[in-house]
Amino acid sequence: MVTQEELEKMSPEEIAELQRKNCIFCKIIAGEVPSHKVFNNDLVHSFLDIRPAKKGHVVIAPTQHAPIMPLLSPESFQGVFQSILTIDPSLKKETLSSSSSVFIANGPAAGQQASHFLIHLIAREEGDALSDKFSFTPRPDLKEKNDQLIPVLSKNLPLMLKNHAQKTGLTKFFSQPKTSDQQPSPSTVSHNEPAGQPSGQSQEELIVQFFDNYPQAKLLLEQDLDQFKELLREREELQKLFQGVNLEQLAKSFSESPKHPRFQEIFQGDDPNKQLLTLAEYFSGKPAALDLLVSDVDKFVSLLSSRPDVASLFKQVNIPLLSQHAFELFPNISTIPQQIFKGDNSANQFNDLKQYFSGKPAALDLLVSDVDKFVSLLSSRSDVAPLFENVDIPLLAKHARQLFGGDES
Ligand SMILES: [Zn+2]
Repeated sequence: MVTQEELEKMSPEEIAELQRKNCIFCKIIAGEVPSHKVFNNDLVHSFLDIRPAKKGHVVIAPTQHAPIMPLLSPESFQGVFQSILTIDPSLKKETLSSSSSVFIANGPAAGQQASHFLIHLIAREEGDALSDKFSFTPRPDLKEKNDQLIPVLSKNLPLMLKNHAQKTGLTKFFSQPKTSDQQPSPSTVSHNEPAGQPSGQSQEELIVQFFDNYPQAKLLLEQDLDQFKELLREREELQKLFQGVNLEQLAKSFSESPKHPRFQEIFQGDDPNKQLLTLAEYFSGKPAALDLLVSDVDKFVSLLSSRPDVASLFKQVNIPLLSQHAFELFPNISTIPQQIFKGDNSANQFNDLKQYFSGKPAALDLLVSDVDKFVSLLSSRSDVAPLFENVDIPLLAKHARQLFGGDES
């Protein structure tokens, strides 16, 4: 039996291995627990459900132990979904059904009970008693709320793709299908269009995206050009990406780009650039940690004391000052701005408020020091009030200094 303390010390790989050992579906796949096999190959094990919802209920399990769909390897993902195309027609033929339900519970709130990702394939016919379980009543009144997800999803999906790319390596990143249909913009880095790069984005956009995803690569270019060139020689896809680019000039432009005004005070180690990039990488994989740093710096510090591995990243970092400037230093990672600005156009809303407060420091002071009074004054100012529509004003008040600057009083 593993204690909670032991569990906390385990790496994600060790935890996965432990789950795998205890997983009933892995035992079925290994043949340790019998099952009525339907279709199997290296990637897929499918069998009749032992508690069928009706006649013709097949469970399709990837042979890889993955707790949820996003953790499937690309090969498993493809294999398991591909197998539906093989199993479904024969299931329909055997059960004389014309239709089938493909059911995936992805996570506990969706009804997932197993710790092994599964697909349920169920033969369906007119009037079978199952329909209630799989149908839902449309709610047109929620359309507006649903549409509010657009800016959040468009922000979060690239971030998730980025984290996934970091886990799976550079090659996977470059073979990702493009996710936007932006028109190519005129490139200022180079007008070459190397063969074999995904179309639709200019070379400059791809390079910017690359450095956003791999801050270490940016650091390498800035500090050790020869080693960066060596990296390019090793990686064909990078060679293509940087074809025709003047690397010396690019490195120079990076090292001359302006730094945050409090940069030296915040990062006091020998290599402040590296400290910043290491933390950027850490937070991009743990946005909740950044949220905590921003909203409760004392709690963040006290948690660090129990996590020596993480604490080492913050050695020689002025954490309270980092907390004050975290939104500027690590843009688009914290989820707090999304919680504050809930309108469709949150980026514009933020900019409008920033402009408003820059001309009205007294209003910012009032918001921070007495949010109730601020709200009551707002109700009498029909010209200003629209700026705060769909804004969580108490949460804004809490983070206004971090978002809009101004001295701590
Ligand atoms: Zn398993």
